[in-house]
Amino acid sequence: MRKKVIAGNWKMNKVLAEANQFVEEAAEKVPESDKVDAVVCAPFPFLTSLVEKAKGSHVKIAAQNMHYEDNGAFTGEVSPVMLKDLGVTHVVLGHSERRELFAETDELINKKAHAALNHKLTPIVCVGETLAQRDANETMNHIEIQVKNALAGLTEEQVAKTIIAYEPIWAIGTGKTASSEDANEVCAHIRHVVKTITSEVTAEKIVIQYGGSVKPANIEELLAQSDIDGALVGGASLEAESFLQLVEAGT
Ligand code: 13P
Repeated sequence: MRKKVIAGNWKMNKVLAEANQFVEEAAEKVPESDKVDAVVCAPFPFLTSLVEKAKGSHVKIAAQNMHYEDNGAFTGEVSPVMLKDLGVTHVVLGHSERRELFAETDELINKKAHAALNHKLTPIVCVGETLAQRDANETMNHIEIQVKNALAGLTEEQVAKTIIAYEPIWAIGTGKTASSEDANEVCAHIRHVVKTITSEVTAEKIVIQYGGSVKPANIEELLAQSDIDGALVGGASLEAESFLQLVEAGT
C-alpha cells in the first residue's frame, strides 16, 4: 500500500502572519497517520518560520522550486543545501507555471531532480499536457516524454523516492477537473512508463498525485482511483479548513 501525499501548493500567495497561522492550525489538527502525508509547499521567505511551527507535528514543509547547484554565483537562487539545512522535506519541481512563465525545460528539471535526491529532499515532479495536446490525442506521448526526461539517470532507488504530480494544464485554476477516470488513466500510464524504465517493484512504489482544481468535493473520488496516490492542490489549499478536509480524505 502506497502512502498518500496531500500537498498544498500555495503558489505566490499569503504574507508571513497568514502562513504562520495556517501552519499552526494544521500542526495542531493533522493527525498521525500511516495512510497520508500532509505537505505545505510555501514561498521561500516563509520556510524557516513554517518549519519551526511544524516541528513535532505531522505537517511537512516543502519549497516550490530550487536551483540545482549547491552554492555559488547564482544571484536570486536557492539551493538544495539551503532547503535541507532549514528542515524542508519536499520540493516541487517543474510546475507548469515554471515551465511556461520561467522557461524551465525537461533538462533543467532533470538536473533539479538529481540535486534534490542527492540532498535527500523528496522531489514532486510535475508533468501535464495542454488542452491543445489533449485535443490532438497527444497526452500519453507527451507525458511519457516528460516523465522519461525528468527521471533520466536516476537510480531505481531514487525513482522510488520521487513523487510525480500529473497536472493537466487546462485543469489548473480553471475549476475544470479531469474526470477521475481520465486522471487515473494518465496516472496509470505514468506508472507504466516508470515500470518500463525501472521495474514493476519500483513502479508499484512510486507515488503519483493528481493536480488541477482538486477540492474537498472531488478529492474522495480521485483518491478512490487505482493509480492516484494523492493530490497537489492550489486554490483549495489556501484555507486551513479546506486543506484539512483534503488531508482527512486521505486517512
Ligand atoms: P488549482 O488546484 O488551483 O487548480 O492548482 C493546481 C496546481 O497547480 C497545484 O500545483
